[in-house]
Amino acid sequence: MTDRNAGDLPASPDPWSTAADQALAQVYSRIPEVACQGLCAHDCTDDIGMGPRERQRLRRAGVQMPPREQAKERAAAHGPSPCPALADGRCTAYEARPAICRIYGVTEGLRCPYGCPIASRRPLTMAEGFALVDAAAAAGTARQPMNVKQAENALRAAPGARIRARQLRDQANRRQAAGPQRDQAARRDEPMALPWYEPQSD
Ligand code: SF4
Ligand code: SF4
Repeated sequence: MTDRNAGDLPASPDPWSTAADQALAQVYSRIPEVACQGLCAHDCTDDIGMGPRERQRLRRAGVQMPPREQAKERAAAHGPSPCPALADGRCTAYEARPAICRIYGVTEGLRCPYGCPIASRRPLTMAEGFALVDAAAAAGTARQPMNVKQAENALRAAPGARIRARQLRDQANRRQAAGPQRDQAARRDEPMALPWYEPQSD
């Protein structure tokens, strides 16, 4: 099935290709580690934005990620559902978690509300954090080894992808302003993930 909103990045590669995973590992290595206490499971929902490869990786880790359209319809009616990777308030797919989960808590404006310390001298700026989210989406399309610079170049050649970054940033700003206790109605009003981040067939 062709996704009419798939944007202008190539489709996700073979699920078992290692080039995309290697490229993703390079992007992820730019994101500071955090000594997470696992206190913000309330923000782990199944409608978070991620690249097609990142969704594949979660599925490969055994997480039953719903198709985007299904999550979208359910969230529109009832608000976002908990991320299926959650168990007892912790992420069961921590090694496979996507870039958007990785920048949370280590980026200015997305700092951990519980004070979990980061392993770097300074947090990422919002621009740096979301550039890495974008780069991860582009890296996830790699069919041959790709470093972060090449991922950024691939993204530059795909201007449609940038729309997603803007929406993600707006969503993060709104979440931050509303705080962890925002209500279901506020969650329901949050924009959904952009289509190009989703697999072309799901
Ligand atoms: S993948 Fe893990 S860290 Fe990301 S939203 Fe799901 S449970 Fe949370
Ligand atoms: S914001 Fe990040 S570091 Fe803090 S509890 Fe949540 S996931 Fe852990």
